[in-house]
Amino acid sequence: MNIDKDTYIRHEESLILIEMFKEENRARAKLVLETIESRFKVPSISKVAGDPFKVLVRTIISQSTAEINTKRSYENLSKKVILTPKGLAEADVEEIEEALFVAGLYRNKSRIIKRVSEAILKDMGGSLDFIYSDPLEKARRKLLRLPGVGPKTADILLLFCAGKPVLPVDTHVNRVSKRLGFVPEKAGYEEVRKTLETLYAPKEYFKVHMLFISLGRRFCKAVNPRHDKCPVRHLCPSKP
Ligand code: SF4
Repeated sequence: MNIDKDTYIRHEESLILIEMFKEENRARAKLVLETIESRFKVPSISKVAGDPFKVLVRTIISQSTAEINTKRSYENLSKKVILTPKGLAEADVEEIEEALFVAGLYRNKSRIIKRVSEAILKDMGGSLDFIYSDPLEKARRKLLRLPGVGPKTADILLLFCAGKPVLPVDTHVNRVSKRLGFVPEKAGYEEVRKTLETLYAPKEYFKVHMLFISLGRRFCKAVNPRHDKCPVRHLCPSKP
């Protein structure tokens, strides 16, 4: 195929512009992280990690549910049932529902928890320990086959419990990344995750995840974001 000189120059210019945009984003991403790190505390990973099955159950409960109600539901459940795949697969769904009553969509979540427990027992030898030994993509594929496990839940388990280099994107991380202009508004889960993973180093993934959540909860709220008080407003293209 013959490409004329003007087309070639335009193509080269576009590549240069894309590279400049990426470079600018990387520099801004670094400043954003430094700024929010000086503002919010990052919890120790050991506080949120632990047994992958328990992290899975807690993550399912936490969907569309305030932290305080997630904690209460999880504690209720651990008092009623042994939190193992066998314990939950054998529990009555009504018993799980009773424990999860304060969590949003508790009926739905109770069924998912029971089904995922049954699937782990049947298809995975009753354990999620493969997340430690399998390579990242293989472990991720296996987790995504489980009922009720989407990319966010899979990535939380892989990063929090197994220390794999993956950056989970929850609703706050998604919103904050888009408003900061790091990803296009219409980007889906994988695009947001992969872009953030190129903007930050793997050792920063946990910190970025937790700090973007803090920023989203305190300032960059879904409704009525507090632009005027936001610590990164000077770095944000979405501020009014
Ligand atoms: S300035 Fe506004 S849009 Fe930008 S990160 Fe802060 S709260 Fe969100």
